[in-house]
Amino acid sequence: MLVPRQRVDHVMKRRTFCQATIGTAALAAPLSRVFAADKPALADVPAVKLSGQSTVIERAALNELSGSLHGQLVLAESSDYDSARRIWNRMIDKRPAMIVRCADAADVSSAVSFARERELLLAVRGGGHSFPGLSTCDGGMMLDVSQLRAVNVDVKGRRVVAGAGCWGGHVDGETQQHALATTMGQISDTGIAGLTLGGGFGWLSRQFGLACDNLVSVELVTADGKVRRASTDENADLFWGLRGGGGNFGVATKFEYRLHPVSAQVIGGGIEWNISDAPAVIDFYRETTTRGPRELSLDLGFWSSRTNERRIGIDLCHAGDIAAGMKIVESLRRIGKPVGDNIGVKQYVDVQRQFDDGNISGELHYIKGGFVPEMTPAFSDFLVKGFQPASGAVVYMQNASGAVADIAPEATAFWNRKVLANLMVLGEWGDPADTERMRAAVRAAWDQLAPYTAGYYVNLSDAAKDTTSRNYGANYPRLVKLKKKFDPKNLFRLNSNVSPA
Ligand SMILES: Cc1cc2nc3c(=O)[nH]c(=O)nc-3n(C[C@H](O)[C@H](O)[C@H](O)COP(=O)(O)OP(=O)(O)OC[C@H]3O[C@@H](n4cnc5c(N)ncnc54)[C@H](O)[C@@H]3O)c2cc1C
Repeated sequence: MLVPRQRVDHVMKRRTFCQATIGTAALAAPLSRVFAADKPALADVPAVKLSGQSTVIERAALNELSGSLHGQLVLAESSDYDSARRIWNRMIDKRPAMIVRCADAADVSSAVSFARERELLLAVRGGGHSFPGLSTCDGGMMLDVSQLRAVNVDVKGRRVVAGAGCWGGHVDGETQQHALATTMGQISDTGIAGLTLGGGFGWLSRQFGLACDNLVSVELVTADGKVRRASTDENADLFWGLRGGGGNFGVATKFEYRLHPVSAQVIGGGIEWNISDAPAVIDFYRETTTRGPRELSLDLGFWSSRTNERRIGIDLCHAGDIAAGMKIVESLRRIGKPVGDNIGVKQYVDVQRQFDDGNISGELHYIKGGFVPEMTPAFSDFLVKGFQPASGAVVYMQNASGAVADIAPEATAFWNRKVLANLMVLGEWGDPADTERMRAAVRAAWDQLAPYTAGYYVNLSDAAKDTTSRNYGANYPRLVKLKKKFDPKNLFRLNSNVSPA
């Protein structure tokens, strides 16, 4: 198991929520005690509505919500407010009026109804890995499902059911105990909820499709507060929208995925060269990503070394026959003069966390990106000769193709399937004084690369931009219809938003 699994013990929660809840015993106590003569009455809480208008939430209503939860209500006065509001990207520093840490679907339903009845701005937090910070908000409610971490593997039926608060590492850790796996992201602490609802690329997606393509069913709470199950034979329209439509249709509480045999031992790691070897590396990349075995997934990267030398690199995972995979690795090693190479036979769970150290929570991050349809000679030429990356910006092309492209774009809400790779320009830094320089570096690199891309990945988009047609393509009208049916007031809007209007 990669990380300790935190099962929710409802009984314990029921017993202890009073102490943990609003940070003072007085709040969980009956109102008569809260307003006792010797204690100052706790004030109502200022908040922000969906419309952006200010409102006030009465203390009595908060007490009632808190009392109904198996989890916790965390307010700004709580000692754990600052840790509860934190998300992965330190660039984002927002202050929700309240955080509902849900312990089960019933809590999610109570929180959704509370927000809907008051027309409160609502952010839904799974793993908290949204680059633009869509899982939090200023002044609204943060509905946090991160405690829903139960994982149950059905070995015979080749299925896994995972709570919506799981990270990829929780799922991989459990399924790999049975030499099984499904597509998860490439960093072990990324939340499965946002990742799956928006698509979900990983080392296994060329072989088995996106994370959302492996869904068998989803349990979710819709805007009316109802707990529903969506699958091909139950709420099939909703199930279509949940596979690529992001968090537009409700709060997912459980995901059921199909599992595939994946041996504990795979080939993984990375190899890098000076930019002078780029033409041959790109040729290999183009050939292998279009014609190579689906067990092999290649990601291509460009960056500058500490001494400002431009580098090109390939990270890979081959989840199949080891001898066949090593043959391909040997041909890769014969290209030019590699300056670094850590490819080898490794545990699959280690390959799934090989980048974790480079993506430290608590750092500041900025990203731009789009899909690359194909590695045309013009794009390849530009990458080798024309591209001028500013210092600090890393370009990374995460492999798509293979099984991702087998599925018709209109078969699920995930539209951008016929592409070679998901291109990202990433900036990561620790000192806030560097923020403007790093954002400018990322933007400058993206401005050069954007003409070679088409369409945005739902999971990397900023809700503030009008990205809908580029995210959802010709599926957009169907998504609007679904949105009108399940979320007519657009309660779930902090995502790559489908407007019901
Ligand atoms: C370090 C890092 C590595 C990444 N690696 C990959 C990768 O390998 N492959 C890939 O495809 N993507 C990757 N991503 C992008 C990732 O898919 C998105 O950031 C995704 O949104 C993360 O999901 P989350 O639950 O952690 O996010 P959150 O920040 O919690 O939420 C993101 C969005 O999903 C919504 N949401 C969250 N939980 C729920 C829920 N239970 N129900 C409904 N809506 C919900 C939120 O409201 C928000 O709109 C990576 C991101 C990071 C930061």
